[in-house]
Amino acid sequence: MSERTLVLVKPDGVERGLVGEVISRIENKGLKLVALELKNVDRELAEQHYAEHDGKPFFESLIEFITGGPVIAACVEGPKAISAFRQLAGGTDPVEKAAPGSIRGDYGLEVQYNLVHGSDSEESATRELKLWFPNL
Ligand code: GDP
Ligand code: MG
Repeated sequence: MSERTLVLVKPDGVERGLVGEVISRIENKGLKLVALELKNVDRELAEQHYAEHDGKPFFESLIEFITGGPVIAACVEGPKAISAFRQLAGGTDPVEKAAPGSIRGDYGLEVQYNLVHGSDSEESATRELKLWFPNL
């Protein structure tokens, strides 16, 4: 029973040279890369991707951040891939929520600059993969 999820290395992770580290952790876990792309995110894609957060106080800042530099987008596959990657990523706040040993827990300090994105449910994964990889 294989599942697919969308993983992003956000602009802070790319800028800090953590792409290899994130991909290593994905591969070491046993998950497979189905697609991988370096991409500049335009405002339209950013707003669609983060539509659930529209109206929140950090929305504008989040859109500026995610469009501020290239991201790595990946389609990652494996058994329970969605929760498996969420576990690798750690909680949203790198200090308050992400455990040491997770990507955010090991490399992050601030909630916005938390390095990676992973789809949070099957519905989100389907929606996000269609947005980022329409030809997959
Ligand atoms: P995720 O699913 O763990 O990525 O977290 P959410 O879906 O709740 O939030 C999406 C992204 O918005 C997070 O990964 C952060 O980059 C950012 N974010 C979430 N909460 C806050 C906040 O309170 N302030 C700021 N500035 N950014 C936030
Ligand atoms: Mg989320």
